[in-house]
Amino acid sequence: MVLKLSFYHLIRSVTFYICSMKNVYLDNAATTSIRQEVIDEMVHVMQTEYGNPSSTHSIGRSAKAVMEHARKTVAKQLHCTASEIVFTSSATEATNWILRSAVKDYGVKRIITSKVEHHATLYTVKALQEEFGLTVDYVGVHPDGSLKYDQLQELLAAADATLVSLMHVNNETGVVHDVEKIGALCRQVNALFHCDTVQSVGKSELNLQELPLDFVVASAHKFHGPKGIGFAYVRKGLVLQPILFGGEQEKGWRAGTESVHQIAGMAKALELAYTHLEEDRAVIAGLKSYCWEQIQKVFPEATINGASTFYNILNVVLPIDESKTPMLLFSLDMKGIALSRGSACQSGSAKPSHVLAEMLTEDELKKPSLRISFSHYNTRADIDYFIEVLQSI
Ligand code: PLP
Repeated sequence: MVLKLSFYHLIRSVTFYICSMKNVYLDNAATTSIRQEVIDEMVHVMQTEYGNPSSTHSIGRSAKAVMEHARKTVAKQLHCTASEIVFTSSATEATNWILRSAVKDYGVKRIITSKVEHHATLYTVKALQEEFGLTVDYVGVHPDGSLKYDQLQELLAAADATLVSLMHVNNETGVVHDVEKIGALCRQVNALFHCDTVQSVGKSELNLQELPLDFVVASAHKFHGPKGIGFAYVRKGLVLQPILFGGEQEKGWRAGTESVHQIAGMAKALELAYTHLEEDRAVIAGLKSYCWEQIQKVFPEATINGASTFYNILNVVLPIDESKTPMLLFSLDMKGIALSRGSACQSGSAKPSHVLAEMLTEDELKKPSLRISFSHYNTRADIDYFIEVLQSI
């Protein structure tokens, strides 16, 4: 009895401690919380549109209408046509599909990419290289994370059935690549251009009618939408082949019954992201500069990884004793602060970030880096608390 009681009290006190602890979420490049309007939309669709969009009866046709409306909404935000949008389960799936089909069915013999890409691209390229023996060339980056555009131009001069896969905004540093410039270079030599726009869709204006991009991928959970849903943009006239077989969904390009509520939620999230873009961007940019100012006050020797970075990501090197690096995230987490060292899929790893490894020296890499990524839901009070905790570590 005594034992039972003390165990009960222990659980209660732990629960009380966790519930009363302040929670500060500064990991918005990993994923974002879902907007309430998006949740409402998804619940409504789940309750009312349970039909299979491939069914020919009215309940199925109604679900299909919801899905096609969502496709038009997504297309409208990005200034392209609805037929250019293909729904997928994630950006990772979209990238796998595009790159595989480009090699297998489009005759691509060489891929030019960079070592600072997300693993969704890097690992897919590696797998395709092993499977099809294609040539892979990597464009370097400068210590500030910017791309070596001259090297890209040189590599493109020897264009031979080439696809370029380069991201827009780096998810670890926020460094922005000039996709207009890359696209223009690709066009000069008829190379295809696949662009990972996961970190910029919903956060910056993208006019796909005007931008020289052939393939684009995006993921709803990065712009306050649901997880497990994303899309590919495939420029009109380009024809890919499926990697998933079993149905005629998505023009036969992506078999599998569509997740209507997630698609509707994604469209709602994107629409809201663009409706509020200017105000949200101003808030987030303000928070980022405030955070940097506060960090500098406490750690005058802190530096930023990357130059000309996107408005929602701040990757900083802290002049903290190297021995504290492994425990830094854990200590912050214990105080209710969620952020990462690098991308979410490797933030728990002891290995240095593959992105920073391309930019920093061995010695610089040993110092603790933190990726702080903001959303419009953050406040200055969140940052004040984060700084207070950081100071105490
Ligand atoms: N590309 C970038 C730049 C990302 O940040 C992410 C997500 O972490 C992905 C691709 C993968 O997206 P998804 O989570 O939809 O597979």
